[in-house]
Amino acid sequence: MSAIPFFDCNCQIGVRANRHKSTIWRLEDYRRDFDYCDIVGAVVSHAVAREYSPDYGNRRLLREIGDDPQLVPQWVLIPHHTGEMPPAPELVAEMLSLGVRTARIMPKTNVTGTSEAIIGPLLSELERHRVPLFVDKSEIDLPDLVQLCQAHPMLPVVLCGQSWGGGRTLYPALAAAPNLHIETWAYQEHRAYEEFIRRFGPERLLFGTDLPNRSPGAATMMTRYEDISKEARHMIAGGNLMRLLKDVRGAQGRPLPELKAPATHPDDDPIVACTRAGKPLSDEFVLDAHGHIAHPGAMGVYIPLAYNDADNLVKSMDRMGIDICCFSPWSGIITGDPEANDISLDAVERHPDRLLAYGCDNPNYPEFFNAEYERVFLTDRVIGYKPYPRHGLPFDHPALAPLMEWANANEKPVLCHAMRPDISEKLAAKYPSAKFLVAHAGSSWDLAEGTARVAREFKNVYAEITYTSILYGFIEFFCEEVCPEQLLFGSDCVMRDIAPQLGWVTWARIPYEDKQKVLGQNMADILKMPMEQRTPRS
Ligand SMILES: [Zn+2]
Repeated sequence: MSAIPFFDCNCQIGVRANRHKSTIWRLEDYRRDFDYCDIVGAVVSHAVAREYSPDYGNRRLLREIGDDPQLVPQWVLIPHHTGEMPPAPELVAEMLSLGVRTARIMPKTNVTGTSEAIIGPLLSELERHRVPLFVDKSEIDLPDLVQLCQAHPMLPVVLCGQSWGGGRTLYPALAAAPNLHIETWAYQEHRAYEEFIRRFGPERLLFGTDLPNRSPGAATMMTRYEDISKEARHMIAGGNLMRLLKDVRGAQGRPLPELKAPATHPDDDPIVACTRAGKPLSDEFVLDAHGHIAHPGAMGVYIPLAYNDADNLVKSMDRMGIDICCFSPWSGIITGDPEANDISLDAVERHPDRLLAYGCDNPNYPEFFNAEYERVFLTDRVIGYKPYPRHGLPFDHPALAPLMEWANANEKPVLCHAMRPDISEKLAAKYPSAKFLVAHAGSSWDLAEGTARVAREFKNVYAEITYTSILYGFIEFFCEEVCPEQLLFGSDCVMRDIAPQLGWVTWARIPYEDKQKVLGQNMADILKMPMEQRTPRS
């Protein structure tokens, strides 16, 4: 299978106010990443235009990218009323004469709002020329976005950063606004593209990376692995963006990048080679440290999430090449009652070779405790303990101590949602034989840095990765600052899809052997799994 050419619709370059040292900022580093991840072109805006001054930053963008054939400039626009930018006809004419084919608005940051009286004339001029308009989810509320789309029906609008679990409002919005498109980096819901295409076709999904904030390899993963047609895959990867850019009326100057087959990568390790081809990792042992299931047949819980039960989790594991998943039930982290543990135990019984359960307990119902402790924990029917913040108690609360002691006495893992570093430190010292898995350790640089600091000191503290953030450089950061042995792959499937989380590891620039540790061997060590059981089975 020839590699898919990706065309990134959501990339930012330039000097930013707040930057983690692991993230890139030089254009040559972007070019290296583009090459590695099969990205043949990118629409770029400038951080200075987004954070400091739109006009100044837009001009700086053109100066810095020069005539780089891979890059398509995007300007950040504000209306003309204050004299910071010219009136719309003049502004859009200048953009088009310079080959600037896309625009971005930031109604919250730039305090313009989205009322027609304020930005209507600018949007009408963009609409007249079919200039695609980009706006980030953090900058606009969905009802306002639908109004904007309906007021300008010929204006292609791209919503960037749309996350998962929003279908109850997003699907009606897409139905009401046929000119609304979705950029994909955060759109990581389980089987999201398949569901989207079933409802709206493949034309309105556009691949984006949100570079330099996210792992670009991870961002390509759903396009590579979703169960969709080859045509749809290529449209999402770049064809749709190319169509929108070619539809722009009156653009001159810069040629568009070519959507040609990306370069080959003979020096790929076996894991990234497999990922690049969109094939299941069938030759590797992969153990997911963090999954979820809902009750049988579930298509959602308090948020809509497609195909949310154990059988569908195993189906998705097969699609990706995940051998075993350690999961907790959705209801376990909410009600945490005996019926929640029943859902887990039934799932393990149905898929004994593939699923392992964390036991749950709701400390607000001490009357359940003794029977569940004997039935679930003392009988070894679960591999660990999953407490959860929704129960309203911190992880070091005395009500959680009996199960912490169980974990300590039996050297079991405790999966703790985004545990604060000061609490990790305290628990790791108090229960030295328990294994503390800090779930979502890569959700923010603050938590990543804090967890790394504790993990350096306490060998029973581990960073489990899963989170929509897919932070750029986090995997490399942790391996370097702590060690690969204390880093664990987790997917949060079936909530997030497995693909982006898996790609966060597979595309990381770490040695092949370290990827194997992170993807399965470390968690297998925690579970004391015999070597002969560490075999690919998907
Ligand atoms: Zn989770």
